[in-house]
Amino acid sequence: MKDARLVLKQESSKSTKIHIGGSTIGGNELFIVGGPCSIESLEQMEQVAIALSHGPVQAIRGGAFKPRTSPYSFQGMGIEGLQILSDINRRFNVPTITEVMTESQIPDIVQHADVLQIGSRNMQNFDLLKAVGSAGKPVILKRGLAATLEEFILAAEYIMAHGNPNVILCERGIRSFDTFTRNVLDLGAVVALKQLTHLPVLVDPSHAAGKSELIADLSKAAVACGADGLMIECHPEPEKSVSDARQALSLEQMIDLIENLRLIALAVGRNIPSPKETRALSQLTIGQNEFANQFHVAELIA
Ligand code: PEP
Ligand code: MN
Repeated sequence: MKDARLVLKQESSKSTKIHIGGSTIGGNELFIVGGPCSIESLEQMEQVAIALSHGPVQAIRGGAFKPRTSPYSFQGMGIEGLQILSDINRRFNVPTITEVMTESQIPDIVQHADVLQIGSRNMQNFDLLKAVGSAGKPVILKRGLAATLEEFILAAEYIMAHGNPNVILCERGIRSFDTFTRNVLDLGAVVALKQLTHLPVLVDPSHAAGKSELIADLSKAAVACGADGLMIECHPEPEKSVSDARQALSLEQMIDLIENLRLIALAVGRNIPSPKETRALSQLTIGQNEFANQFHVAELIA
């Protein structure tokens, strides 16, 4: 009997395309997400948006509610962080992504962010999966720390079965015996998920590698094996990052990494959207001076 699960590819040609802001994930263009592990201040997020929002990335990430291993570590800015995301979205016209940890956070998060992220630690929080099923916004579902592909696929099925067709799978590395890298990036899973499901697949090399010097080459490998995009942690001052500092790229490294992916993308029939000053020009609603200033700074950084 045919397996009728919603997540599975029933026809070989089917692939789900999800529209986020002016971009699409799951089509020919790669969807690249950049931003810090945690939102730390408005200034920090402005610096990220100035460097990246005019084209290098299609969305900006930043955690406001952080799942930290230790209860004594920084837990995120909470609602104040969400307000910063809204502000960045409004002024820079860039979609934003942030993690949701509990059902009770959903109303605030959908008001302030464009995409909800379910983190690894919550991949099998079934009540949360059901709740984001009716949140009305796309969901990035990260693979659990030690989840099999079957468990990952069934977690996505929860979200779809509860009414949300816009699910993006994210491979972010799994636990293994070797601690040299923080986790092991499972590129075999990326290939398998693209064959088995019709959903877009993102790769997060940052949490997989845990070391900034490994991120560029892992990103190339991810694009070469068919990932629909990347989610990479970067920070204006990586060494000062309040969480995941060891894996954070600088904004300059992030821009270089994306430029260096172009040829690999082309080799596998994909492309990286070009910087879109023209589109941004017509869509930005912020004041002229602020806009001019933003592009002046962006040019200096580039
Ligand atoms: C994150 O994206 O900052 C994060 C906590 O990721 P993960 O859930 O993959 O550990
Ligand atoms: Mn992180």
